[in-house]
Amino acid sequence: MILPTEPIGSIPRTPELIAALAQQDPEDPALEALYAAAVRDTVQRFEATGSPVVTDGEQRKYHNFWTYCVHGLPNTQPDGFKIPFAAGHVRRMPKLVRGPFRYRRRADGYLREAQQHTSLPVKQAIISPSALSLMYPAEEIAGYSRDQFIEDLLDQHESEIRDCLRQGAHKVQIDFTEGRLAVKIDPSGKLLSSFIDLNNLALSRFSPEERQRIGVHTCPGGDLDSTHSADVEYAELLPSLFQLQVGSFYVALAGERHPEAVLDLIRQHLRPEHRVFVGVISPIDPTVEAPELVRERVLTAARYIPAEQLGTTDDCGFSPFSDDTSTSRETAFEKIRSRVLGTRLAAERLTG
Ligand SMILES: [Zn+2]
Repeated sequence: MILPTEPIGSIPRTPELIAALAQQDPEDPALEALYAAAVRDTVQRFEATGSPVVTDGEQRKYHNFWTYCVHGLPNTQPDGFKIPFAAGHVRRMPKLVRGPFRYRRRADGYLREAQQHTSLPVKQAIISPSALSLMYPAEEIAGYSRDQFIEDLLDQHESEIRDCLRQGAHKVQIDFTEGRLAVKIDPSGKLLSSFIDLNNLALSRFSPEERQRIGVHTCPGGDLDSTHSADVEYAELLPSLFQLQVGSFYVALAGERHPEAVLDLIRQHLRPEHRVFVGVISPIDPTVEAPELVRERVLTAARYIPAEQLGTTDDCGFSPFSDDTSTSRETAFEKIRSRVLGTRLAAERLTG
């Protein structure tokens, strides 16, 4: 038996790239050689871990996983939605000031480049429509209604997914970190259910076969070794999360205080067409997990989830924001190697 194992997406950028981005415009053509070298090095090191599925490590996603597609749009201002982290810092997204809403870039370009460096399956993470919906301000934009914005947003998101599927993505993973955050912002659950409805509206444009290649990632955030919503109970999120019309779920679990309670919740809400990839590595924990610890985590998960519906992943990307230097590339790849090895050890045990 083989248990599938996949990364979430990001790897810390190369030190050269981080240093250059601190000085230069991210679109300066002089940076091109550094981006290209970072992607090539990331894919090669991914392969060296034995990981059966790789990514480009999001080396070109600027400034982060949330706003890469809209960064630099002329019809935005920087004073948009705030994401407060437990460590005290705040990340901010741009605010839309005029219509129409269009992406400036799409993730299929990242995917195409990574595929040129490997024959392994490449996975592509993209941002959810619900995250980008937070760009529309509370007050209506004159001449560009919220409804029109949502229609444009769904079109942009749909074509990004279609381009990635056409380009041969092993999986397209929708990053939905704001799901758990939504419960923190609005404990009534209304914001979360509006997010689920919006994302399902987009997913309804795809066939059941296409949706089997689409997944959703949930986590409490991971930036500068801190989280934004770890205090929100999964019980508030998971019943809604599993309403999303996708085949795969990537659920942060290694950093949870009560992982078995979460596994029990997953068992209750998982449907036969779902596969759940549980987090067995914590990117915000500086200690590299031993493969034996990973094996035990997988075996615990297998007591709740049928092995044919189980997979493993990391709790989050290792550097969702491009300037995050809290984890080194070396540590990230060591952790990935442990995930791959530990998952294999667990599969052997489950087969035996
Ligand atoms: Zn995450």
